[in-house]
Amino acid sequence: MKRMFLFVDVQKDFMNPNGSLYVPMSYNIIPTLQKISKLSFDEHDKDPENVEIAFTQDCHLKTDAEFISNGGQFPEHCMKGNDGAKSIINNPEFKGTIYTKRCTDIFDSKLGSKKFKKLIKENFFNEVWVSGVVTEICVNHAVMGIKKISPATEIYVFENAIMHLDERAKEETFKTWISNGIHIAHCGL
Ligand SMILES: [Zn+2]
Repeated sequence: MKRMFLFVDVQKDFMNPNGSLYVPMSYNIIPTLQKISKLSFDEHDKDPENVEIAFTQDCHLKTDAEFISNGGQFPEHCMKGNDGAKSIINNPEFKGTIYTKRCTDIFDSKLGSKKFKKLIKENFFNEVWVSGVVTEICVNHAVMGIKKISPATEIYVFENAIMHLDERAKEETFKTWISNGIHIAHCGL
């Protein structure tokens, strides 16, 4: 069985209260994320062929469309090379692969990650375990994109290891996931 642990945008600018685009309350899910990542490292060591660890990350340039300065809706964040773009997860030996994007959708044909899309297209993952931020934005794009490319993959999203910006949008996202056969799970680690 092939499994992927997917960490969406677990970056300092989003998850550190001093970050430039802090997602309120997301600091509180870090201990759970840390436990999931520890589990992923251990599982990967036991069976590297079948356990994939993927980190999607924003990696922006000044000219990116989503910034307010360019007519978008977000302040500058996760700038290429800056500390704010780094992972907030403690991963000293660095295990896993980083997939960068310059917009909210990892599957976007221009600003998403071709490498991530290729990974999903060319490998069949029986299960994908998802955590990170933001529930109704980047997590949703990743989850729905995987489901579209690989409908038979079972996707589990840990509701206590994700964080939303808007309560109503989160509820709508959960409804969409459930109607698409995506599992909302609770991480009991
Ligand atoms: Zn961004």
